Amino acid sequence: MPDIIELLPDNIANQIAAGEVIQRPASAVKELLENAVDADATHIQLIVADAGKSLVQVIDNGKGMSETDARLSFERHATSKIKNIDDLFHIRTMGFRGEALASIAAVAQVELKTKRGEDKLGVLLHIENSVVTRQEPCAAPDGTNISMKNLFFNVPARRNFLKSNAAEMRHIIEEFIRVAMAFPKIFFSLVQNGQEVFHLDPGSHKQRIIQLLGNHYSSKLVTVKEETDYMNIYGFAGKPDSAKKTRGDQYLFVNNRFIKSPYLNHAVMSAYQDMISKDSFPLYVLYIDLDPSIVDINVHPTKQEIKFEDEKIMYAFVQAAIKHALAQFSISPSLDFSLNADIQQLDAVNKPFNIEKQQQAASSGIYQDFTKKNQAHFIPPDNNLKNWKDFYIPATSPQTPQQILPLQQEGKKILTEIPFIQLHQAYILAVRENGFILVNQQLAHERILYEKFTSFSKEKKAAIQQSLFPQTIHLTPDDALLLETLLPDLQELGYQIEQFGKHAYLIQGTPADIPVNNDKNILEILLDQFKHAQASVELNAREKLIRSLARQHAVKTGDTLTQKEMLVLIQSLFECDTPGFTPSGTPVFLEFRKDYIDKMFEKKS
Ligand code: ADP
Ligand code: MG
Repeated sequence: MPDIIELLPDNIANQIAAGEVIQRPASAVKELLENAVDADATHIQLIVADAGKSLVQVIDNGKGMSETDARLSFERHATSKIKNIDDLFHIRTMGFRGEALASIAAVAQVELKTKRGEDKLGVLLHIENSVVTRQEPCAAPDGTNISMKNLFFNVPARRNFLKSNAAEMRHIIEEFIRVAMAFPKIFFSLVQNGQEVFHLDPGSHKQRIIQLLGNHYSSKLVTVKEETDYMNIYGFAGKPDSAKKTRGDQYLFVNNRFIKSPYLNHAVMSAYQDMISKDSFPLYVLYIDLDPSIVDINVHPTKQEIKFEDEKIMYAFVQAAIKHALAQFSISPSLDFSLNADIQQLDAVNKPFNIEKQQQAASSGIYQDFTKKNQAHFIPPDNNLKNWKDFYIPATSPQTPQQILPLQQEGKKILTEIPFIQLHQAYILAVRENGFILVNQQLAHERILYEKFTSFSKEKKAAIQQSLFPQTIHLTPDDALLLETLLPDLQELGYQIEQFGKHAYLIQGTPADIPVNNDKNILEILLDQFKHAQASVELNAREKLIRSLARQHAVKTGDTLTQKEMLVLIQSLFECDTPGFTPSGTPVFLEFRKDYIDKMFEKKS
């Protein structure tokens, strides 16, 4: 047998290694911007075309490179930033692994023009597939001008993994914001397909944050500032009343590097405890500076995760700094989350479920039946259950409608004589001749709205209800970009949304016949879901939109429903094509058939 191991050719090895560093155009944006920052540039321009797929270009006025350095910079592990392993723990630069340019040159066509202040002429280099195809002296301004063209031109499989231009552009803007936010003293601009999206003059941290996130934030921020021997923290935290339903604007920088840290995020959130509701997120932009020797930034190829020598101190410090900032501005807890008295009285809350009770419950017949596998006491929802009118309970007095759900359209008979029982403000118990069903109110409504929204199309647009007091939503540039792409579909579904200044929109009208809701919130959540949607189930944008709207507009667990509302809900549910399941496949109701229930109470002989 011959030996079988071979060394990979350099260009293939480089392409494989590049996978860690360059995943999409935005990764190149991050690396090239960071290189410009490391070169002490004060003026950095980012130019992209085709969401970076055909061009990512960064022009800086930094220190430039000599001819030899320019050649070397594209070699793997070529860096001017560390010389030995000790340096790794004193890093003040953004880069240090010497991989970015080598990776980019392995998977794209690169053009570099660079000149140092002390040199008369600069150098021009063309590289593709890790091979230099052109090198010559050239006239150039001081600094570096580097273009990455046709990313993954030589790795079609990876090119196919790129997302839509809108999605890739969002990633680019995200990376741009992270770098620009860390260095407010540097001028940054971003030009996309010939249009200037950002133009950021040098200024203070606060000015930069407002340039990036929007003017409306200026009155919503409190300053965070603590200095100790161990570390400093500086930045801004949103006042509790400006917390949003989406996670969006939370930025944490350690030694000017944007990092993701669920642990420190938790520290911030805990400082807000009892000031904001559990499902909302405060804005924050925090800059932590500490001795580089007590953090390890070399734990992740793109350096977004780092390790602290002492995590607990970090947690306590961040939490205390935020608490202090919020207290200083005399923002006191405004929401009360204590349980209401009725609930507190309940045994289940009062008396712990102890071992003795557990054993009692386990030995009772019902419990045993319920836990027997394949026992036929639970029947999964039956999609053909259309004869809901079998409900047969006599009339009670109708209650005043609360308008949580729109009542039935004219012309349809409302069967007010059937009472329903709402349980735990979550379920509707509806009795039928041959048993009863337990309907999850929120999921049922989600199904109803889903089918309603689905029925709209270009030809049959939803009716729009004009808003008397149109709400304004201010968006970050990337959210605005995303919203733009969704506008045509939103219009069909009954949303009339108009641009109102840069990155701001007016909600002029909302879908008629759909429960009135906080549409500003709904749109914010919608954008957030789009951004963080798992790519595993690839749904088209319209389907995602409809599902999200149905979910947002649905009555919620916790809403009290009147008899009339429950009736309309049940009636509409069984007029659906698929009443048994939500669009994502969760059962909407459980059916309990009387004969099975009878069986469960039969004496065991
Ligand atoms: P790293 O940043 O980790 O050192 P890179 O591959 O990003 O690795 O860059 C390699 C080297 O090329 C850098 O160490 C730096 O010396 C040089 N370099 C890259 N970009 C620039 C630039 N815009 N201006 C000056 N030097 C640069
Ligand atoms: Mg670098």
